[in-house]
Amino acid sequence: MLNITVWNEYRHEQTDENIRKIYPDGIHGCIAKFLGEDRELQVRTATFDMPEHGLTEEVLADTDVLVFWNHMLQDEFSDEIAERVQRHVLAGMGLVVLHSGHYSKIMRRLLGTTMTLRWKLGSRERLFCICPTHPIARGVPAWIDIPQEETYGEFFDIPKPDDIIFTGWFASGDVFRSGCTFLRGLGKIFYFQPGHEEYPTYYIPGIQKIITNAVHWCAPSARRSAPLENTAIRQSFEEEYDKL
Ligand code: ZN
Repeated sequence: MLNITVWNEYRHEQTDENIRKIYPDGIHGCIAKFLGEDRELQVRTATFDMPEHGLTEEVLADTDVLVFWNHMLQDEFSDEIAERVQRHVLAGMGLVVLHSGHYSKIMRRLLGTTMTLRWKLGSRERLFCICPTHPIARGVPAWIDIPQEETYGEFFDIPKPDDIIFTGWFASGDVFRSGCTFLRGLGKIFYFQPGHEEYPTYYIPGIQKIITNAVHWCAPSARRSAPLENTAIRQSFEEEYDKL
């Protein structure tokens, strides 16, 4: 059993009638629902307005994979909690970051680049799977059509990914590295572009499949440890060998 925490800023859904109609239980509610259909996943949710944004030491220590969506309140997000999430990822907690979360403090801290891109509202996207052998692509069609999505275009200022699994093509003419993996410390990270709040993207079965696969792939492969530390060599391997 994997413990999953789905985190959502949960502001658009409370302030915009049209977005609330699409996600009456919030984006986190929608994602938690389809993840919860997987019997190997134990899912809880957390939002910005909870004490410590719902990401206390206790919650993070008990989280195998954090799924993260934010947009409006990126500057207001606590620096201390961004640092805390970074520390847990370096110690092995998995992280799935969705859509505008690319520009979260958490991602900018973990990846170290500006994380900027080109964007434009209202386009059609065809999401191509360009790495069908990757576990995140298991059971995913060769491409998924998303009738309405926000254009995200290159240049996307990210460090070179370990794998690019999905590429987005938009009717605006832009292309984008839409599904990328990164390893930071002991933690596996998957960034996934689809999911603008004004469109019902997280109801598309193929999108749900990718996020579910990503949660499994990002789970720690070994037991979570404390963050790695510098270690003094008190006795070298050669000295041990000489004693044999
Ligand atoms: Zn958006």
